[in-house]
Amino acid sequence: MTRGFRLDQRTFIANQNCNLKRRTGSESALYTRPVRQIIQTVSCVLIFVLAVVAGAVAQAEPDWTEPFPPFRIAGNLYYVGSTGLASYLVTTPQGNILINSDLEANVPMLEASIEKLGFKFADTKILLISHAHFDHDAGSAKIKEMTGAKYMVMDADVPVVESGGKLDFQYGDRPEFLYRPTKVDRVLHDGNEVRLGDTVLVAHLTPGHTKGCTTWRMQVTEGGKAYNVVILGSPNVSPGYKLVHNQNYPQIADDYVRTWSVLKSLPCDIFLGDHGSYFELEEKYARLKDGGANPFVDPSGYKKYVAEKEKEFDTELAKQKLAAK
Ligand SMILES: [Zn+2]
Repeated sequence: MTRGFRLDQRTFIANQNCNLKRRTGSESALYTRPVRQIIQTVSCVLIFVLAVVAGAVAQAEPDWTEPFPPFRIAGNLYYVGSTGLASYLVTTPQGNILINSDLEANVPMLEASIEKLGFKFADTKILLISHAHFDHDAGSAKIKEMTGAKYMVMDADVPVVESGGKLDFQYGDRPEFLYRPTKVDRVLHDGNEVRLGDTVLVAHLTPGHTKGCTTWRMQVTEGGKAYNVVILGSPNVSPGYKLVHNQNYPQIADDYVRTWSVLKSLPCDIFLGDHGSYFELEEKYARLKDGGANPFVDPSGYKKYVAEKEKEFDTELAKQKLAAK
């Protein structure tokens, strides 16, 4: 999740406006005091409602729920997410693995995408996520109910998932970011393998954005050639994240630094991530349809993206360190 802060910004502004009016008391003397108070209260409520509605709309980015054509990326790896929220299906003769459950409202779309590709949603045996934010994990409870899939989550994200977001270090006290608490069936640790049939996925802990943010790695075979796939967990420093003196997450800056070194060490041919925008989903999909070389094979795009994100982090950290002096 990278953009949800807008709701709180607007609410904050609305509250400030109301407080300001109360303090100055500069309304016209045409009204008696009780009438003025009623007008003021009604205005505040209206401003608040408008702010919440505007914020809620902004928070649910339109492309998060916009259908995207499901397609095969390479080998037994398929794209089944929306335009904005990336989800992947890994198929095996023993059933399938789904990565990212997205919003609960997106679950029917995920199901339809999987079935459109000719697979059965009910064959989803394992459910994985990139990290414990509602735009990637809020649909997990529903998918577990519908398919009976085993839910496997990186250790440090487990309390967040099982509390429905309440134990998130940044968003835990913000009701708009919470979701149905979901029981985890297997707790993963850094470097653990998830196996189904002849497919192996490796869970790499890439923390910072969340404490258990996970980058998934696997190999696919296409045309007799093996490719290393990296599905990047979010490397973003979200607006409002405190990198210095963060009481809820004291090691946050060190964790991001660790993430850069992990990401730079991973061999990557096929570059993917938990939002389509990370790896130019729409552009690459258009090129894929045109034929020719598979555009998702993009090792230099991966290196460039990681370098950009590291630079953004360094800039933000330097800024926050300076401000804390
Ligand atoms: Zn996130």
